[in-house]
Amino acid sequence: MLRKNRLFTPGPTPLHPHVQTALASADVHHRTADFRALYRRVLADLQTFIGTKNETLLLASSGSGAMEASVQNLTQGGDRVLVLSAGKFGERWRDLVRVYGCQTDLVSVPYGETFHVEQIRAALKPDTRAVFLQATESSTGARHDVAAIAALLRGSDTLLVVDAITGLGTTALDVDGWGVDVIIGGSQKALMAPPGVAYLAVSERAWQRMEQVKTPRYYFDLRRERKAAQKGESAFTPAIAIVAALDAALQYLRQVGGGDLAEGRGMLVRNAETCAAMTRAAAQALGMKLFAKSPAAALTAVVAPEGIDSGVVVKGVRDRFGAVLADGQGEMKGQLFRVAHIGYYDYLDTIGVLGAIEQVLASAGAQIEFGAGIAAAQKVYAEQTASIAVAGTK
Ligand SMILES: *Cc1c(COP(=O)(O)O)cnc(C)c1O
Repeated sequence: MLRKNRLFTPGPTPLHPHVQTALASADVHHRTADFRALYRRVLADLQTFIGTKNETLLLASSGSGAMEASVQNLTQGGDRVLVLSAGKFGERWRDLVRVYGCQTDLVSVPYGETFHVEQIRAALKPDTRAVFLQATESSTGARHDVAAIAALLRGSDTLLVVDAITGLGTTALDVDGWGVDVIIGGSQKALMAPPGVAYLAVSERAWQRMEQVKTPRYYFDLRRERKAAQKGESAFTPAIAIVAALDAALQYLRQVGGGDLAEGRGMLVRNAETCAAMTRAAAQALGMKLFAKSPAAALTAVVAPEGIDSGVVVKGVRDRFGAVLADGQGEMKGQLFRVAHIGYYDYLDTIGVLGAIEQVLASAGAQIEFGAGIAAAQKVYAEQTASIAVAGTK
């Protein structure tokens, strides 16, 4: 049969058609009034998308660039910091703060798990300068309780830096209410655009911290970037086409929200939640276990059935159906496969990929009944959208 190529990976995610058009026509120079208007609009819309009044910046880098920029601008050698690690991206924070010479306290939990608030309370010291964590750990599919962790820091001088690269647009995050000092996103996740731009929102006290920190910085000097952004510009040549792509994605979300971008973001989060709930129900109905104890809506990590390498599932779904799932990373390779729900996915994508997974599992010798996963997903969909279906019949 024909195969359509589809990405189900937790970054990059499928491009929205308006994004593709914007990419193809982004033939502008960045030091022009037209581009400044676009840049200002994207920065303002990103504030709404993130749900913050904090100043927002764009960087021409992948998400990890904004992670490094946060460490570089907010810490200096010898600073005590706390890293919360529950997977490959938590380990990235650990490695980054070590590169910058921080005195690092680490709360690390096994892959698939999340932190207990008491562990974190015990690890916080009076001189902890900053805490680094993920909102959702994309290597394991776990969701962390950012609100509870933020509450521990209230009233202290400890900055909270959250990698929400797969959390934004899949998870409700009250950035200002909770007191998140830096929150980081990436163009290739919920915003349906190609990789190449990272964005972040920075609190007033984090801006103040940057003035005290002595760490040398140049390309990722966020103070310089802030000054440029206030004039509707970037310090260096921006990733023009991706900025235009982000604008198209944000306009699409505004349209989905009936003219209200925050509503469109809420709709995107609920969409991910429904896709994720359908996928979890299907996996369990097919006799498989979920890898994460507190699963995120961003992606679902599924433990492959006994005796079947998860790589066989990933390869089968790709070779036979053109859909790209993600295998486990590092030690989790071969054990689990990951199905993303970040960004531009709908009911048909979700039902379709679950059908493909059933086919591939059956070919690999798993004892499954065709349709068992789909049936469970159908029920979840019907339950979660009951009110919408009724409204639609009026
Ligand atoms: C994708 C991702 C990143 C960033 O990775 P890049 O490849 O640098 O864009 C960081 N953290 C999480 C949780 C991610 O999912």
